[in-house]
Amino acid sequence: MKKTVKDIEVKGKKVLVRCDFNVPMQDGKITDDVRIRAALPTIEYLKENGAQLILMSHMGRPKGEPKKEFTLAPVAQRLAELLGCEVKFAQSDVVVDDSVKAIVSEMTDGDIVLLENTRYRKEETNNEEPFTGQLASLGEIFVNDAFGTAHRAHCSTAGLAAYMPAVSGFLIEKELKFLGDAVEDPARPFLAIMGGSKVSDKIKVIDNLLDKVDALIIGGGMAYTFYKAMGYEIGKSILDENGIELASQLMEKANDNGVELLIPVDTVCATEFDNDAESHTFRSSQIPPHMMGMDIGPDTQKAFAEEIKNAKTIVWNGPMGVFEMPNFAKGTNAVARAMAEADAVTIIGGGDSAAAVEQAGLADKMTHISTGGGASLEFLEGKELPGVACLEDK
Ligand code: AMP
Repeated sequence: MKKTVKDIEVKGKKVLVRCDFNVPMQDGKITDDVRIRAALPTIEYLKENGAQLILMSHMGRPKGEPKKEFTLAPVAQRLAELLGCEVKFAQSDVVVDDSVKAIVSEMTDGDIVLLENTRYRKEETNNEEPFTGQLASLGEIFVNDAFGTAHRAHCSTAGLAAYMPAVSGFLIEKELKFLGDAVEDPARPFLAIMGGSKVSDKIKVIDNLLDKVDALIIGGGMAYTFYKAMGYEIGKSILDENGIELASQLMEKANDNGVELLIPVDTVCATEFDNDAESHTFRSSQIPPHMMGMDIGPDTQKAFAEEIKNAKTIVWNGPMGVFEMPNFAKGTNAVARAMAEADAVTIIGGGDSAAAVEQAGLADKMTHISTGGGASLEFLEGKELPGVACLEDK
């Protein structure tokens, strides 16, 4: 167990808090503030307990240079609205300079300062000096609450822990609890649902989960690579050439481990990769040469929903089809609905599946929606995340 903000004295201390304010922006406006809201419990706790908060985050990929379109200024404004108090934005093209140090030195208990985008500095993503030391000069305690970047060893996500006591915020604590309990001590039957486009991207997760789950559903684009491994023709469907052999190995491992493996029995196919293309449903072994699989079919939806109904723990990562196109989002929505109705611990592993669940208006029906797509995948692979490993143990 890692220490959290509750395990240390923060009153009167300058606390450097790494948040995940990597929010989507359009024309200088924040289009979705879920990530800012997710950071509020830790910020509010620290403020109420008399800490002086220096918040850090990255946004987008400015690639080590100051770029106006990636400034965190709009985040400071949104945060101030949500908290109902002042959030001072320490504007600086180099993130830490004398003017920022002056702002920080004048802080009193409960004050909140937000630094500029940490990725304005090229050292950030390489976890290099002098940036880590410059950040460290501002504070006395490091709190990491950015689960979305916890799988990266950057100055602001891990490097700071070498300089000062390091603990987690409530968001990381919650992510570790739900993802950790699901994988280590699941209520059974434990079902994993994997979708998305590439087998090779998710091979390690599937491999690791095959040692833990009772059943595994494969859907989305990666199913066609499994079909290919089974000797089916897949027409113009997406194929991950490098994944064919891996898919065979995974099927063998599922069999050896006694894991029930569910692969779509029918497939909605289209003549083109287009929402309005002509489409038909085929048995999975009968995809015509001129068509491509875009979604799971109705019989598969039923079979998957039945499996979901019987499970007690469900982890889902990756859409069942090209869910960005409404005509091919039905399978993904059906899985989201079945999970919402299930009497089970339901965990959404971030990214596209989280977006699909939000889109379907079912977010509040899930036990936990991870705020980190990449981080939750690496966690499910069984890897230790650098942004977590660097924190003090209880
Ligand atoms: P990933 O990034 O691997 O999780 O994959 C997510 C992407 O997979 C989404 O953008 C989906 O549109 C895409 N996808 C899902 N099913 C299919 C499919 N049958 N054909 C092509 N792309 C798909």
